[in-house]
Amino acid sequence: METVDPLKGANLSYKDNKIYLKGDFKDNQEYSFSFNYTTQPKKALYFWGWDKKNIDPKVPNHKQIWSQGQGKYTSNWLPSIDDMNDKIKFKITVTFNSDYHVISNGNLLEKKSANNLTTWTYQTSHPMSSYLVALAIGKYAIKETKSDSGIPLENYIYPNLVANYEPTYRYHKQIFDFLEGEIGIPYPWSVYRQVPVRDFLYAGMENTGCTIFSDDFIVDKNTFNDQNFVNVSAHELAHQWFGNIVTETDSNHHWLHEGFATYYSLLAEKELFGEDYFFYKLYESAEQLNHQSELQKGSPLVTPKGSSLTYYQHGAWAIVALREWIGDTKFKKIIPQFLKTHQYKNVTTDDFLKIVTEVTGKDVSEFAKKWLHSTKFPAEDALKIVTKSDFMKSYLQLAGERTQPLIGKYQLLSKALDFPTNPYLGQEVVSQLQGDFSATALQLLEKAFDSNQPQVLQALANSLVKIPEAFEPKMAQLLKSKSYAIVEGALYNLWNNFDSKKMSYLQTTKAIIGFNDKNIRSLWLVLALNTPGFSTEERTHFFEELNSYTATNYNFRLRTKAFEYLKLLQSYSDKSLQNLALGATHPNWRFKKSCTATLKELYSNKKYTQRLNRLLSTFPDKIKQLLTNK
Ligand SMILES: [Zn+2]
Repeated sequence: METVDPLKGANLSYKDNKIYLKGDFKDNQEYSFSFNYTTQPKKALYFWGWDKKNIDPKVPNHKQIWSQGQGKYTSNWLPSIDDMNDKIKFKITVTFNSDYHVISNGNLLEKKSANNLTTWTYQTSHPMSSYLVALAIGKYAIKETKSDSGIPLENYIYPNLVANYEPTYRYHKQIFDFLEGEIGIPYPWSVYRQVPVRDFLYAGMENTGCTIFSDDFIVDKNTFNDQNFVNVSAHELAHQWFGNIVTETDSNHHWLHEGFATYYSLLAEKELFGEDYFFYKLYESAEQLNHQSELQKGSPLVTPKGSSLTYYQHGAWAIVALREWIGDTKFKKIIPQFLKTHQYKNVTTDDFLKIVTEVTGKDVSEFAKKWLHSTKFPAEDALKIVTKSDFMKSYLQLAGERTQPLIGKYQLLSKALDFPTNPYLGQEVVSQLQGDFSATALQLLEKAFDSNQPQVLQALANSLVKIPEAFEPKMAQLLKSKSYAIVEGALYNLWNNFDSKKMSYLQTTKAIIGFNDKNIRSLWLVLALNTPGFSTEERTHFFEELNSYTATNYNFRLRTKAFEYLKLLQSYSDKSLQNLALGATHPNWRFKKSCTATLKELYSNKKYTQRLNRLLSTFPDKIKQLLTNK
């Protein structure tokens, strides 16, 4: 806070970022006080697009303000108790320019407008921890539906991207209805909102009744099959129970949030995408956990210092194993009982285990030792569970042949490609054929192409670094695929393999943009800049276009890509160097880190030192100091 001024009835002082209240306070009595404050938060509340510098005027600049409480402390902008053990009913009133939507947690009690300003008042129905307070301000279109149980589901989208509403929110209602039924107690809040924001720090954040998520998940119908919001959307929704009504007492028990959210989102995906998907995902995470544990890098699940792999994946696995051990009926009794017993309170792992014992009458100590407190991931138990699936048995049999010569496994590989091709088996076959151009391998590759299975085609597009002449027409056909992942792989590998056809590949793909990070367009520009036949004027345009993607109103995934390509081409414009300096102050740590590293590297390169020195006065102060150590 910059200033804190007490109003009526408050004997209040402000010191060391804390507000102190003095008085003779008694238990169970209500007191009220008020004060004014001003703040310019450095974190937990972020402002985007209000500074017009360094934006590309050709694309919409979504001016936004949004919050991220977890890990950042809501008290940076809202006087509140950061301790998650203190649960409070929040009532938030915000007055803002009437052109914008103001979104927060709970019921919208009132919305009043006067003189181009609108005042929005929100209130939560039950107490919650302050890290779950949400505030998002921006221009949005809203679509509202209702769950089967009558909960209003409000989905927000940018007005210029309304056409992407359907693929972005596809299955959102099914997921909601499924989780309510599966978890066994009704959704615990009065309304559920999902709000996309630009440059969000994570995939999503489960604020109470108001999930904020990265606008990278606003997808068109072609993108949906390769990248979509389904998993994140189900994950954040599951947190509305696990995390939001029962909250960990401290980070030792973080798996009670992340393990459960990961588990229930996987169940929702199983409902939508089938059992093979479910078992393959479990197998994949077991492989990662087993690998971590073999490197002696595993950690117990109940720990304050776990990795995301531990809290999310190992956490989900512990629940899978528990359910396997005690059976569906008992499991479905335990979960509602756990949530009801501790609702709107804080919990520990022992609170959960106590209910397991109450319901099942079983001694949980062996289970807890193996799944919650050991640094070793119980891979054998996990394998027993995944091989209950016939599909996984076939997959593992196929994967077991990886080091065998083709001659002995031809029949098996060919069978795995039989129509309709299972995507995981098909991908495995393609990966085992990599680098093999024998006649039998070519026969199998042919069969893989003819499967027309999108994930198998994607594996072919990406893995055929060297493309046999005979497959050129089939690969060139993939440039017309609806999947941007397939087109990207095919374009890159074709361009590298067939010199005389470079221009024709570029002609075919010149109008495709691709995912939100413009994966195809940016690759296209780099390839075009390296292809003879374009005029100087065209080349200048390509160069300018690629540089423009570093501007601050593009998402940081695209900006990262543009910086990487410019580094490869060694051709930064002054503007893009300024954008790189701004990137080095971005609140997303990964993006900030990569921009900072590139900037430092350039500064120590004689070719750039002088140029950067000339631009230095336009850089943020922090970056000036970082480069010159002054
Ligand atoms: Zn989560």
